[in-house]
Amino acid sequence: MPLVPAAEDSLPAEVRLRDLRANDVPVSIVARVVTAERREIVRKSDGGRRPVLSGLLSDGTASVRFTWWDPPSDPIERGEVLRAVNVQVREFQGRVELTFNWKSRVAPAGDADLPKVNPEDIPLRPLAELRSGDDWFRVVARIVRVAPKTVSVGEERRLLHEGVIADSSGAVAFTAWSDFGLSPGEAIDVSGGYARAFRGRPQLVLDERSTVRRVPGEGLPSAESATRGLSRRISDIEATGGGELLELRGVIVALLPPSGLVHRCPECRRAVRQGLCRVHGTVQPEPDLRARLVVDDGTGTLTVNAGRPETERLWGRTLEQCLQTMRENPDPTLLEEQLFEAVFGRRIVVRGRGSADDFGVTVYPESIEVEAMDPVARARSIAGALGGSPG
Ligand SMILES: [Zn+2]
Repeated sequence: MPLVPAAEDSLPAEVRLRDLRANDVPVSIVARVVTAERREIVRKSDGGRRPVLSGLLSDGTASVRFTWWDPPSDPIERGEVLRAVNVQVREFQGRVELTFNWKSRVAPAGDADLPKVNPEDIPLRPLAELRSGDDWFRVVARIVRVAPKTVSVGEERRLLHEGVIADSSGAVAFTAWSDFGLSPGEAIDVSGGYARAFRGRPQLVLDERSTVRRVPGEGLPSAESATRGLSRRISDIEATGGGELLELRGVIVALLPPSGLVHRCPECRRAVRQGLCRVHGTVQPEPDLRARLVVDDGTGTLTVNAGRPETERLWGRTLEQCLQTMRENPDPTLLEEQLFEAVFGRRIVVRGRGSADDFGVTVYPESIEVEAMDPVARARSIAGALGGSPG
């Protein structure tokens, strides 16, 4: 029997992140840093500060959150591949996490040390079944839209690409942190991404670890048919917590405050009260129009958050005309009443993105079409809205 050096013998085998199980046995892993954020935790006992680095690691088989107590002072960069020995695995809220402590040893590694993953081995997932926190899935979908965007990450400016993809089960928003050269209409097979919650909805995140392949895309909806969408019942939209590329029809039954003439901070567009923005302090507020419309289709209600152009069109009045009314009669409730009278009982078709919170679903419209109605039909619609019948 060949002799194995003791040190070699005691070195635990590397575990793929997909195979991690929470137990008392420390593991060795090789993984890439997907995100890393350094913080300081204040100890309750003596007020001392303890540095901690936390974020997400991925080895292509799964993404796992990690916490690294007392990390080295040299920065750990996104994209770095690390080999870590003696790492603790624990479970938190039903998901495994890694904890690096003083017993862990961490050294740089290379791409070649990462596990080899064949995309075909990754299970295919319908978009409608993506949940925040998911990884280790593959999706085949059509790019409905995509556009570049520049964001600030710390002090760094980064270019990303945002859009929406669709398959026959539904549509989700995506963010690509690497440029995959995506363009609308293309069918793609994506693996190595993960899903995270964004505005209460799962969103697909792609980065340099993700693989994007062009595919023929048989059976996928065209980009055009995905954007046209099919009208959905409000109860169904509520059940799924909103979604991308929504279309719904219903009657405006109420207006929620703040609606009508509002004042916004010129810096951040937050609502300003008495000239005070809660972030930027005293500012010169800019007038704006908005309408928070409660829409009912007989199966349920949701809120449509209409911005200035949609509000002006629904109301038939411009911001300038509203400001003129205010100069003549400086009573803000008057405008809100007039807006309510103008929109109440109107049947509308709304297209846009929706997300849910404790107060229900809010839709951020890309378009609102008003169905033309004669006064009799409108009166019937108002009566139906008040009676709660499906009109
Ligand atoms: Zn502000």
